[in-house]
Amino acid sequence: MDYENVIEQVLAVTAPHVGEGAVPDYIPGLASVDPRQFAISVATVDGREFHGGDHAVPFAIESISKVFALALVLARKNTGIWKRVRREPSGMPFNDLIELELERGLPRNPYINPGAIVVADQLLADTGDGLAALRELLRAETGNPALEVDSVIAESELGAGDRNRAMGYLMASFGNMRCRVDEALDHYFRQCSFTLTCAELARAGLLVARHGVRADGSRLLDPEPARHITALMATCGTYDAAGEFAYEVGLPCKSGVGGGILAVVPEVCSVAVWGPGLDAKGNSVTGGIALREFATASKLSVF
Ligand code: GLN
Repeated sequence: MDYENVIEQVLAVTAPHVGEGAVPDYIPGLASVDPRQFAISVATVDGREFHGGDHAVPFAIESISKVFALALVLARKNTGIWKRVRREPSGMPFNDLIELELERGLPRNPYINPGAIVVADQLLADTGDGLAALRELLRAETGNPALEVDSVIAESELGAGDRNRAMGYLMASFGNMRCRVDEALDHYFRQCSFTLTCAELARAGLLVARHGVRADGSRLLDPEPARHITALMATCGTYDAAGEFAYEVGLPCKSGVGGGILAVVPEVCSVAVWGPGLDAKGNSVTGGIALREFATASKLSVF
């Protein structure tokens, strides 16, 4: 595979669209990001890396953190997490409350906000310090020992988080929270605010592409739960656009409102793209275009 050539093609196709979409205005720390940026990074399971665009600029991974938090929960056996969150796609936006009420506080999947809040709650209950566990994992997998939560973005999330709090309290009313709601939410907001570069995100994504094997060669997850994480990316990772992503891109993906999307080709590579402008469903506009071109040019779609 000539990844350099593929990246050149991606950059050429994406360039006319850079700046398109809207930065999220409900999180002030994200609203101030310059939308005229774009990056792509590919990390292969055999240790090569290829980059294009603004791949050294850190951005908030937001919902992409949901993949790594779930990995840490599934690394522990018998947590009962699948009694607390389902594995079905939701046709509703990632921060919808109606479905959660109708389904009695049992979130559809771990990659929409209520599901991720349950996972954050579980991680906090199991470890006592879920954020430290996540920081350690992300630092080790990216190779960046200075990787941190961006405190400005975290404060901004905390200040704008009433809808997420509403989900937490609604789930608590149905008996689906273990920790105090404000503590679980505090963890959730901070995990969303880890900032990684595109290059670092692609490296971290290798954990998924290698079916749970860490950068140091040790195993975090058994192959089966690792496969579950990837399957859920394909069916639920881009919210109510997951069908469209399967159709257009054909790779398991997880997006975040910071404009990043992580895609994996199991046993081959991890691809991170970043463009801050979002579409109406909260997925990066240029990220979607870039991944579609990546899948077409590389012929790596899993379908
Ligand atoms: N922090 C964001 C929120 O809770 C994450 C959502 C996302 O990236 N889709 O609204």
